[in-house]
Formats: sequence, structure tokens, C-alpha cells
Amino acid sequence: VNVDELISLNRYNVDEENAHIELGDGNLEALDAAEFEKLVRVCPAALYKIDENGVRSFDYAGCLECGTCRICCEDSIISKWENPNPTMGVQYRFG
Ligand code: SF4
Repeated sequence: VNVDELISLNRYNVDEENAHIELGDGNLEALDAAEFEKLVRVCPAALYKIDENGVRSFDYAGCLECGTCRICCEDSIISKWENPNPTMGVQYRFG
């Protein structure tokens, strides 16, 4: 069993109205490059991405609520990090 298989077992109730994580003022390209690259490296769900053209993306929908990005960058480029509303977010299906 690998980590990707375990993560794929999870279910997510995505709060489309309220992103529980936000970056800067919402313009990902304006964020400090070194800080964004940290997020790409640390997120276990690989939700922070830089594509082959250097374009950045972030999708909170698959968040595992581990808090790693918060610890890493709350003082720099993460402008909001809250737990999702109680009926929202990840439901773990293993372990
Ligand atoms: Fe990724 Fe964890 Fe941050 Fe969610 S809380 S975006 S899973 S690092």
C-alpha cells in the first residue's frame, strides 16, 4: 500500500462557498517565489503546484487538514488558514 492509494480512500465535502485556506491577496503569481516553492514541497496532498510553464496553482478541495502549510508559511504568504466548518472537509477512511 502506498500513500497515494491511502489518500485516494478519503472523502471530501468541499465547502465551495468558503475557502479555508487563502494565499496573499489571491494573486498566486504575486507571491514570494521561495515561500511558494516551500509549499509545493511540504504539502502531502500536493495541492500547491508549479506547472512546466512556471504557472502556480492551489486547490484547497483535497486538503488533509494536516496544518503543515500553516506552520510553514502562515507568517509569510498564507493569509488565511481555518479549519473547515464541522460538516465540511476531509473524512478519513483508513487507519
Ligand atoms: Fe496541504 Fe496540509 Fe496545507 Fe492541507 S493543511 S493544504 S494537506 S499542507
